[in-house]
Amino acid sequence: MTKRLIRGKMVIDGTGNHPIEQGAVLIDGQTIKAVGKRTDIETEPDTEEIDFSECVLIPGLIDCHNHLSLDTRLDNYLLRMNDTIPELTLRAVANLLVDLDSGVTTSRCCGDKGYLDIACKQAIEAGYLKGPRLLVAGKGIRASHGHGFVGYPFDGLEPVRGAVRENLRHGVDLIKLYITGTIKASGHIPAYLSKSEISLAIQESKRLQVKTATHCIGGIGVDWALELGIDSIEHGYFLTEEQIDRMAQSDSWLVITPSPFFEENRIRTLPSHLRDGFLRQRDEVAERITAAIKGGVKYAVGTDGMHGGLAKELEWLTEFGASAQDALKAATVNGASVCGLASHIGTLESGKYADIVAVDGDPLKDIRSLRRVRGVIYRGRIRRIN
Ligand SMILES: [Zn+2]
Repeated sequence: MTKRLIRGKMVIDGTGNHPIEQGAVLIDGQTIKAVGKRTDIETEPDTEEIDFSECVLIPGLIDCHNHLSLDTRLDNYLLRMNDTIPELTLRAVANLLVDLDSGVTTSRCCGDKGYLDIACKQAIEAGYLKGPRLLVAGKGIRASHGHGFVGYPFDGLEPVRGAVRENLRHGVDLIKLYITGTIKASGHIPAYLSKSEISLAIQESKRLQVKTATHCIGGIGVDWALELGIDSIEHGYFLTEEQIDRMAQSDSWLVITPSPFFEENRIRTLPSHLRDGFLRQRDEVAERITAAIKGGVKYAVGTDGMHGGLAKELEWLTEFGASAQDALKAATVNGASVCGLASHIGTLESGKYADIVAVDGDPLKDIRSLRRVRGVIYRGRIRRIN
């Protein structure tokens, strides 16, 4: 296959190295062969040049917490998860393209309905559906009296074991548990899954080297999950100082998802008790996310169904004290680690997948540049976006 040289005004390779002025990325098929100054990269006579010389090239973005068929642009979007599987699947297919066009080349789906996420992943890998690389969780596991518009109810050890194994049999990349709700109820954060149910689910997953992620905003559930070796705490809106310290010293990641609390459009049409809860607890959440970022917790970032909105999530991270560089890392190299794909994606380096985004402007100077995506290269396939 002919090699191609993607030329940019600047290349941010995502490793933390200085940006490369007049940079370029040489790709061969779906793999990066070289990254550097245009004049330093050797090319062959038949190398095709792809001109993004008005743009800054960055690694493909990673949305570390998404749900393919959850769509926050719909009125009362949580209840729309009760739509039929064909409706949800069509929505997922449309959302995948929205995600890809916003620069997301890898999306980690933390649970969806009826294994539609697995069908989407297989269709993308087979090449007949357009969308980002997917990591999928299949059926999220929640307790029957617990939270989770996307998850499925399971109670007791054997049903939880069965749910994990059924997911594994369908080929999931991670197991998703819902330990808590999303907003605090009267100052308290109950854990709906028991410690022994969580422990069993983690053991069953670990034995097959499958990662575990938990929807957990705080409370005793965070302590249990960390003690039991969870790979990622999703949301973590109300972490205490002690939990932040503990996470900073652990191997567990925090996946921060600001928009459920901060995006007016997604809150506006929710039932009043949810809407009021999100609005009332917003300041505390802002304070706790700021504390987690400041406290050295390792974090990635996700949209939780706000398709096409990852750039906005990064803007919130900067409002909570992350530097633009750290916000970008959350959506690239850190996301790659959460996905267990750090040697394949997350930075622009020789040998990694050619997942590249061309943006209008320097995101290290102005994170809002990420809203202006002009091109997305996913595994070497180029999409130009106006
Ligand atoms: Zn979620």
